[in-house]
Amino acid sequence: MKINENKAGIYIHIPFCRKACHYCNFHFSTSLQQKAAFLQALHKELEEQKSYLNNKSIQSIYFGGGTPSVLSQEELAAIMEIVHTTYHVDANAEITLEANPDDINTTYLQELKSIGVNRMSVGIQSFYERDLLWMNRSHTAEQAEKCLQLIAEAGFEKITADFIYGIPMLSHSEWIGNINKVIQFGVNHISCYALTVEPKTALQHFIASGKTAGISDQHSAEQFAILTEQLNANGFEHYEISNFAKNGAYALHNSSYWLGNHYLGVGPSAHSYNGIERKWNIANNALYIQAVENKLPYSEIEILTVIQQMNELIMTSLRTMWGLDLNRFKQQFGEQHTSTLLHNIQSAENNKLLITNENILTISPEGKFLADGIISDLFFDD
Ligand code: SF4
Repeated sequence: MKINENKAGIYIHIPFCRKACHYCNFHFSTSLQQKAAFLQALHKELEEQKSYLNNKSIQSIYFGGGTPSVLSQEELAAIMEIVHTTYHVDANAEITLEANPDDINTTYLQELKSIGVNRMSVGIQSFYERDLLWMNRSHTAEQAEKCLQLIAEAGFEKITADFIYGIPMLSHSEWIGNINKVIQFGVNHISCYALTVEPKTALQHFIASGKTAGISDQHSAEQFAILTEQLNANGFEHYEISNFAKNGAYALHNSSYWLGNHYLGVGPSAHSYNGIERKWNIANNALYIQAVENKLPYSEIEILTVIQQMNELIMTSLRTMWGLDLNRFKQQFGEQHTSTLLHNIQSAENNKLLITNENILTISPEGKFLADGIISDLFFDD
């Protein structure tokens, strides 16, 4: 997959969830009281940011969160209308909506199709009721299975499901059970994340107070190995550290982030990148709404230094199977930085964690679970 410099993406953050999952540190509120005011502010922001992407055409729109499926068809349709009237959206743009299984029904799916959603991303996390209760998910195991069936029946060709591994009581055979079951539903994209203990989450508190067992890196690493083996055997490409696709069904929107394409993020906590600067919106619903209403600033902006640009390219490209093009790095950042990078690559190559082939640097299969550490060892210091 290659970067297309004339294309861009739009990310729309819907900051509401029906319940707070114990492990989650994303930005959301479980109170929907401010939903109408938020939608008004979001409409305004979409119009105000019209020139951010410099008239590039939009190849992907991504409703993420939070839980975008808390919105009705009318609410989503109103957002789409503003996007279409404000931006030039490609006729075949990828339009993804993240949904939780308890929001899915046949009518809603047809409504989503009618407003142009053509890719469904479902947060399943596990098919075991015990795990869902432990994580405080809003849906049941039965709903997790049912929604995948309904989405396939509704005719969505692009379906992705999210799972979590490394859950303390999830045995390896149960994890294989989760993987096999989702494959049977015919999804062509799977995202899997190791359970991590994020600051200020309920999970962190439960572990600190001894109420629940801690997370074992060894257990997670073993389940990651099982995951890659099972999905490879079933024809999925491991195209990004946490993402697997069958028959080339790569996530266009997410791939744009990893390849360095430009994107506009709207809504509280959303991030944007236009090649020159990064900006991120305030992660507070009430303050975001007030600021947009009163024409006050609601985002912070950072102009990227050369070192930040190099680290960014190393980080995003090494996460993918397309890797880091060392020629592109040299053209962009010069001989001296490239020789420093090559020197840093050497020891990871000696340990078989990185592979260079025809000037493309990738993380080896053995290195993938350790990707974050390998990548940060290559970073340039400020
Ligand atoms: S539904 Fe998603 S965003 Fe909401 S709390 Fe759970 S994991 Fe976080």
